[in-house]
Amino acid sequence: MATTRKKILVAPAWPYAAGHRHLGHLAGFGVPSDVFARYHRLKGNDVLMVSGTDEHGTPVMVAADREGKPYREIADHYNAAFREDFRRLGLSYDCFSRTTTRNHERVTQDFFKTLYEHDAIVEQTMLVSFSPTTGHTLPDRYIEGTCPICGYPEARGDQCDNCGNQLDPFELINPRSKIDGTTPEFRETKHLFLDLPKYADTLRSWISGHDDWRSNVRNFSLGLLDAIRPRPITRDLDWGVRIPIPGYADDENKRIYVWFDAVIGYLSASVEWAALSGNPDLADCHYYQKLFYEKLARPKEAIRHMSRYRALIGKGSN
Ligand SMILES: [Zn+2]
Repeated sequence: MATTRKKILVAPAWPYAAGHRHLGHLAGFGVPSDVFARYHRLKGNDVLMVSGTDEHGTPVMVAADREGKPYREIADHYNAAFREDFRRLGLSYDCFSRTTTRNHERVTQDFFKTLYEHDAIVEQTMLVSFSPTTGHTLPDRYIEGTCPICGYPEARGDQCDNCGNQLDPFELINPRSKIDGTTPEFRETKHLFLDLPKYADTLRSWISGHDDWRSNVRNFSLGLLDAIRPRPITRDLDWGVRIPIPGYADDENKRIYVWFDAVIGYLSASVEWAALSGNPDLADCHYYQKLFYEKLARPKEAIRHMSRYRALIGKGSN
């Protein structure tokens, strides 16, 4: 029996608002998280289960282009469909939100700007694939061609399933779009990257100190740090959260990369839930004390003000 009520943040996956989910998806992300949340509620702990629909990025744009509808209409449609499906299935979300709310935009931009001010973001140029049909970025997995290493004719832009080698799309021989078969154009453009190598030493000592992890998991994680590189957090798209940085804010064709904005959804949805409950400070409590089932972060001091979440990753300078 619990002597003190623990704060438990349950963070199920955010489904793309780009098509219906099937029972397999539900068995993967819906049922386990719901069982976990119900168990902790019964145990007397304070549970917050938040998620929502992931509505930015190429999958939603491709679905909208396929159906000949505006992006927003597709996002609205699938958000409503999931919301209704999950309600009827009895999943006990405390807040099921979406990444196109004003609240999510504000929290994401605040997060992004703070990282930038803490020198956690660097500018680099990169070679980007564009669809000649739409003018939009083509994600690596939407490009296929012949593998330059083994000659397999259906290698993907991110890897070859035949020889297992990781690839960059511009390495493919005869690259083509999997959406309409056209040849992608490769252009160099400027982007903002999360400077992950800057945090490698901190992460290394944090991971090394976890004697409670299985040794193969710990070694695998440490191995990832040896190859860590800055990772792009912006893209050449006109659908997504605007980049709150001088030189980027007014660019109609650049947005925050969906992988970066979607994961901040756990924080923005917690903020939304706390605001709706009439006690905005509650979001800090849940988010900081039990981030991702206690596995990712645990600040030592109590967090008293909402603005402190800014320092979550860039906390080296705060
Ligand atoms: Zn190959």
